[in-house]
Amino acid sequence: MANAGCSHQTLASTRVATVQRCVDCGSLSVHVGPLSFRLDAAAYEGLVAALNEARVVLHREQALEQGHFSSTRGQA
Ligand SMILES: [Zn+2]
Repeated sequence: MANAGCSHQTLASTRVATVQRCVDCGSLSVHVGPLSFRLDAAAYEGLVAALNEARVVLHREQALEQGHFSSTRGQA
């Protein structure tokens, strides 16, 4: 996978995940724990879009749940 011509530039790194770009072929790799995904730019954009959308929905649902819990007596 990482042939001798590939040199990877780290774009971002957190406690959970690291994103690297191959300076030679432009492929992106996402490392999460023991897992690595190698993606082209379009696939990476699709992954990011899915993660962002999931985060928005998750936060919305958590907010609704908290609102629901705090006003359960009043509404039920
Ligand atoms: Zn490469």
